[in-house]
Amino acid sequence: MAVVEAQVSHLRENPFELAREQLRRVAATFEIDQNLVNVLGTCKKAVEVSVPVHMDDGTTSVFAGYRVTHNVARGPSKGGIRYHPDVTLDEVKALAMWMTWKCALMGIPFGGAKGGVVVDPKQLSRGELERMTRRYTSEIINEIGPEKDIPAPDVGTDGAVMAWIFDTYSMNKGHSVLGVVTGKPLTIGGSLGRVEATARGALYCVRDAVAKRDGRLDGMTVAVQGFGNVGSFLAKFLHEEGASVVAISDSRAALYNSKGIDIAAAFAHKREHGTLAGLKDADQITNDDLLLLDVDILAPCALEQVITERNASQVKASIICEGGNGPVTPAADAILEDKGVLILPDVLANAGGVVVSYFEWVQGLQEYFWKETEVNAKLNDIVSRAFEETWETAESRHMPMRVAAYGLAVQRVAEATITRGIYP
Ligand code: NAD
Repeated sequence: MAVVEAQVSHLRENPFELAREQLRRVAATFEIDQNLVNVLGTCKKAVEVSVPVHMDDGTTSVFAGYRVTHNVARGPSKGGIRYHPDVTLDEVKALAMWMTWKCALMGIPFGGAKGGVVVDPKQLSRGELERMTRRYTSEIINEIGPEKDIPAPDVGTDGAVMAWIFDTYSMNKGHSVLGVVTGKPLTIGGSLGRVEATARGALYCVRDAVAKRDGRLDGMTVAVQGFGNVGSFLAKFLHEEGASVVAISDSRAALYNSKGIDIAAAFAHKREHGTLAGLKDADQITNDDLLLLDVDILAPCALEQVITERNASQVKASIICEGGNGPVTPAADAILEDKGVLILPDVLANAGGVVVSYFEWVQGLQEYFWKETEVNAKLNDIVSRAFEETWETAESRHMPMRVAAYGLAVQRVAEATITRGIYP
């Protein structure tokens, strides 16, 4: 029996400690009661499970899995499930905390959660992936549910994985439970617009930020790190708005073309080969180079801690759109702040996904499904309102967008906690 261990992590610092540091900084600025900070700085529940799986070669592998609920003061907890070899409990806790702030900033009635399995899904066959997902779901089945905790896709998971979670949960309950998970395929109660929603929300934020600076997206240059769900569609949408996407990357390749990457060709290449490596009409660079390119907009849409105190001073972009969660560390934040870089923080910039997940949950509970134009219009309303609130707070209080966004969110969760009271 093989026990699958995590490899050396991409995380240089403990992400949960960083998330708590962000909370402390914001709480001090927004004068949040220390007793509440003590509550908000911890996770309500963290479950660790082992996930044994029959592999195709007859052996059995055991994977470590987690599901963490950070806070439910404003509603059931919501958050993605990550399949990645670097997943740790503290990473899942940090991501769960950020989900709480994200849902509060968007004004949607959810708390924050996250899940993860320490696995490289690319190394599994489809059958192994399905068996692992179903066993993981069984192990956390008492933690999740439409009124309790609702998973969604994250790095390494997609609609197919959500379909297996939905089916496993439903089989155990004896009837279909549409609201147990979001990011489902359309054929089984998914929402139109969900696949592209995170990128669309990021586009709305970039568009609003550029407009605030009296600029035009048309003609701006962009570098996008990560060509998965978030990064690929953000590259596509920015290209459609007239921006020139000069660099893209995935875990295996980073590519640059000063005249602009052919995004349609990149989609086709990724679909055919499963990687951007080998894409024609572009020069090979590294993921580190990509972050330091002389572009107008940099969109890190892969993993955490890619912009740190080691490289922040060399970043040349004037706007950073955090399509991914936690790409900029607090130390890097301070350096970029001094340089005058506008950071559109993760809890704002990539919240489009959870907003349309909320729409999917509502549609599932009502068993009544909306047109895509309706989904996108409602998403635009919510994201642009949150952008405006964050921008105004940042301007009027002379603070970075991150502090403003986290501050608004933490205040809302603190208010809900005070109103409900601490049980008993
Ligand atoms: P994904 O698995 O679809 O794509 C991840 C991409 O990042 C892939 O292209 C992968 O090759 C690339 N990548 C992985 N390691 C890399 C590395 N070291 N350097 C460069 N590229 C690397 O995942 P996703 O759903 O697009 O999520 C990306 C980020 O966005 C994560 O931080 C996630 O938490 C966040 N996010 C996702 C959603 C969503 O709806 N999917 C919503 C909000 C936030």
